[in-house]
Amino acid sequence: MSLDTPAPSTPAITEARRQAEICNACRYCEGFCAVFPAMFDKRLFANGDITQLANLCHNCRGCYYSCQYTSPHEFELNLPKALAEVQVESWDRFAWPRGISAAVQSNGLAIAAVLVLGIAALFFAQSTLSPDGGEGFYAVLAHSVMTAIFMPAFLFPLAVLAIGLRRYWHETDGRPVKLRHLREAAMNAAKMRNLSGGQEQGCNYEKGDRYSQARRYAHQATMWGFLLCFAATVSGTVMHYGFALHAPYSLISLPKILGVPGGVLLTLGTIKLAWLKTRADSNLGARTTSGGEMAFVFFARFDRCIGTGALRVHGYDIGAEPHGAASRRRAGTVPADALL
Ligand code: SF4
Ligand code: SF4
Repeated sequence: MSLDTPAPSTPAITEARRQAEICNACRYCEGFCAVFPAMFDKRLFANGDITQLANLCHNCRGCYYSCQYTSPHEFELNLPKALAEVQVESWDRFAWPRGISAAVQSNGLAIAAVLVLGIAALFFAQSTLSPDGGEGFYAVLAHSVMTAIFMPAFLFPLAVLAIGLRRYWHETDGRPVKLRHLREAAMNAAKMRNLSGGQEQGCNYEKGDRYSQARRYAHQATMWGFLLCFAATVSGTVMHYGFALHAPYSLISLPKILGVPGGVLLTLGTIKLAWLKTRADSNLGARTTSGGEMAFVFFARFDRCIGTGALRVHGYDIGAEPHGAASRRRAGTVPADALL
């Protein structure tokens, strides 16, 4: 079975190509983001080129508010929307198993809720077999049981990402990656350079033709919060397996020094992103993404809130039911987060 997909000719790609050809002649937005230099490199756009441009776009909307060819001009340019539609279609083609992306986009919250409840129920059933001993989280759930469930929930998304990346690379005719490409990409991601509007003035996501840094900062809080939480998990794993230092850890241990600010940042970032989404003009984005985006935002926040709550209770009464209940629910949200 081939994992690759040919680049199809869809109405969304045809429309984005029409708009890209107009931009290629105009070139006014050259310094706005990574889309335009990549666009101005070409004279003709294959379907895979349009997919590549779409996935470079961060939907900041700066080009829309600068454009002299938006409606009521006969060209009716709306590049953020055109690229967003292509981007969503491409996720459907690249995601594995097929159809999962479309299902999450349209029913994201429902699917996420079922995942959380299902996995939490599994944990609950396991915990009735009660671990013999253990403190804190492990008093509710044996370490071996947790590893058996979390490990596939961690490895499966990695496999899905690898398949998606391979399909993307094939469709967009990707070239070999060099170290300097990775360095540049990491720097751009760390600074969220493509949400800077090209001159550090920010983007036009939620304030129309006025600039704002809010989306850039919220994305940065979410990204750094996630990375800190990931580092906390890795440090806990190293302490557990490498040094036989088992949880629960004190407040001045590495897992908590990294995990607590990480959880706070992730919570604040995702709340802000959800709020910004309610303020943004839906006519400048894809029609079908809100379910999936809101599901991700909601569960990233839900997970952190429960984690923080469990931590707070932990200091006072390790074996109390509130801690056990919170831990079981959180045990459901973490793998559900990863699977989403
Ligand atoms: S979005 Fe409008 S102003 Fe910007 S390059 Fe395209 S046609 Fe020109
Ligand atoms: S919406 Fe923003 S990121 Fe997308 S093409 Fe326009 S300026 Fe670039």
